[in-house]
Amino acid sequence: MAQAFTSAPPLSARTGRSEHAGAILTIDLAAIRANYRLLKGLLGKVACAAVVKADAYGLGAARVAPQLALEGCAHFFVAHLDEALALRPHLPQDAALYVLHGPPAGTDAEFVASGIVPVLNSLSQLAAWTALARARGRALPALLQIDTGMSRLGLSEEEQKAVSEEPALREGLELRYVMSHLACAELVDDPLNARQLARFCAARAALPRAPATLANSSGIFLGPEYHFDLARAGAALYGIAPIVGRPNPLAQAVRLDARVIQLRTIAAGTSVGYDATWTAPAPRRIATVATGYADGFPRSLSNRASAWLGELALPLVGRVSMDTLTLDVSALEEGALVPGDLVELIGPHQSPDALAEVAGTNGYEILTSLGARYFRRYLDGAAP
Ligand SMILES: *Cc1c(COP(=O)(O)O)cnc(C)c1O
Repeated sequence: MAQAFTSAPPLSARTGRSEHAGAILTIDLAAIRANYRLLKGLLGKVACAAVVKADAYGLGAARVAPQLALEGCAHFFVAHLDEALALRPHLPQDAALYVLHGPPAGTDAEFVASGIVPVLNSLSQLAAWTALARARGRALPALLQIDTGMSRLGLSEEEQKAVSEEPALREGLELRYVMSHLACAELVDDPLNARQLARFCAARAALPRAPATLANSSGIFLGPEYHFDLARAGAALYGIAPIVGRPNPLAQAVRLDARVIQLRTIAAGTSVGYDATWTAPAPRRIATVATGYADGFPRSLSNRASAWLGELALPLVGRVSMDTLTLDVSALEEGALVPGDLVELIGPHQSPDALAEVAGTNGYEILTSLGARYFRRYLDGAAP
């Protein structure tokens, strides 16, 4: 007998009251809209899709996607079918919604029923999709991904050749876009960019004539030869720098202010936090802040990053714990910081990219890790 199990949503930490939360995450919808307009400006006549997988990189797809639709965005990408089903009601009827992973086995009919368009990444996904099309007696829309050097998803060179040479393999496929994905577009000088572009053009030429999509955010900045018919922008919409070593032209879209919950003065020689990794060299004033690695603030920042109060950097001392972190606030006058006050963890002084660099990760991971316990505040997305 099959074992019974139930699934349940996680306990929500949100009561709707910012005073209850350890930190306040502010998401600037107007900045996200402005970033979309900037990318559209670079793309000219080429359409710009919004990649809103992983809950719009942690910022809330149900809030972000409708704002982008108001800017004229008509194409949306998520990774999973369930992400698409959850997002569908928040999008205009005529917006196209694509699932990057394609249909899990046996779910093709659900795509058709909900008008969600899969990216087909393998011969087996293509076979299941075209079999359904033939059973329904009509062609069904899908994207076809070609692997051009990422070695992650998409048809290999041989598989793509088979699909090119054997029309039966694609009978019933309404090919919306030929697609591929760049592995290092943020590194403008990496020779893999040009190699992927060449492979993509060759693959495309061998397939029936169809529109094409190659560029992610960074790919948009590589130049018009990478643009084709549709770009797929994710990170840049949320303010992440598209090109390594160049100034970031995008507006930062998040701010994280965390609450001080206790202050203490410690004597010289007293250690702070788990494993006693930091010891006060002299008497020090320590503030405990209600944000930790369970909220997505990386433990690797222990003894490394700072929080900010106005223009003053307050160094993080000791390990980041699950629910708290500790700051050396000795530079402040006593009483300048009291329990209940907020300090900036992400904001004008410390971008997600800057924090990521210290943590040894990228801005994408900082954003997608932003915690469920934060109180979320959305700044108006109305067009200026
Ligand atoms: C995530 C993803 C994107 C968006 O990439 P960004 O670098 O965030 O712009 C585009 N295409 C594919 C296939 C992706 O997986």
